[in-house]
Amino acid sequence: MIDLRSDTVTRPSLGMRRAMAEAEVGDDVYREDPTVNSLEERTAELLGHEAGLFCPSGSMTNMLGIAAQVPRGWEVLAESQAHILRAECGGHAALAGVTSRTWVSADGTFDASQALSLVSRPRGYNQVGTAVVSVENTHNFGGGRIADFEQLSILRSRTRELGVRVHVDGARLPNASAATGISLCEYGRLADSVSLCLSKGLGAPVGSVLVGSTDLVEEARSLRKRYGGGMRQAGILAAAGLWALGHNVGRVAEDNAGASAIAHRIAEVDPTVVDPQTVETNIVFLDLSSTGLDAEAFAASAEAAGVRVSVMGETSVRIVTHLDISADDVRRAGEVLARCVSENA
Ligand SMILES: *Cc1c(COP(=O)(O)O)cnc(C)c1O
Repeated sequence: MIDLRSDTVTRPSLGMRRAMAEAEVGDDVYREDPTVNSLEERTAELLGHEAGLFCPSGSMTNMLGIAAQVPRGWEVLAESQAHILRAECGGHAALAGVTSRTWVSADGTFDASQALSLVSRPRGYNQVGTAVVSVENTHNFGGGRIADFEQLSILRSRTRELGVRVHVDGARLPNASAATGISLCEYGRLADSVSLCLSKGLGAPVGSVLVGSTDLVEEARSLRKRYGGGMRQAGILAAAGLWALGHNVGRVAEDNAGASAIAHRIAEVDPTVVDPQTVETNIVFLDLSSTGLDAEAFAASAEAAGVRVSVMGETSVRIVTHLDISADDVRRAGEVLARCVSENA
């Protein structure tokens, strides 16, 4: 079975498992786990920030990044399909009392002026103030689109003048970096906080790291404990993250290339289903609306032919390439999915 539902389905490699088994550990709540400490330092350095915080999930690093910077009743601005708003059980609202407003991007790309036009500096006693603008890079439900560096630079300088912070949900930032050649550090410097997932394209079994200033990370560390995310000998897990940073960052370029190849193969049989030009990283959305197919039926026939995809809507399907997908899997998946499109069209 070629599993293209998500890049979270990867399993730790032998090398990664060995690194986990051999990790030096201590009690991380006492900050005595040397492997967690190195992972936090290494990630902060990679992203050009002072400090890092290792957490069980990206939902937690996003929630903490926001909770540490947005006072209760204040707001975070994000795109309408942002993962923080649509796929994290409302954590920032339910746990930290943070409200939100959204701008809408039709194609998943990022336009700083849309975000900036929403920024509110409260004038009266009744107005909600904007504390953070959150940008997802790459944008998952936006089809893996990359937030344009120029636009991020504009956002950075304007929000600074306005006294508003920038959080980047960088769950798949390595995929953006591999596609543009802009380093993680250059991207990182355009934000006050960044969350980076270790368990997506990087292939670790668990974990995400939040980076920011020392003060911000200390606040997030205390909140992490409040929310039950203080872990003890977590070096076992952090070792997988360190191994991933050492071995799997650059190779996400292959995942990007695989997604593009699949998109091209499908577009050959029906260009209305996907425009390969919009496939910038490792995510492909198929729009089946003009084929008369429904997504559930499409996914079932793909699965019967050995390829698993995610159903995202009535006529929308998502494909994600990753570490456990070989070049041969890419070719086979392209053939199977193209056949599923053309047979049913
Ligand atoms: C996966 C993902 C996250 C974090 O998800 P977890 O499952 O909580 O680790 C955050 N943002 C985006 C864009 C994601 O795709």
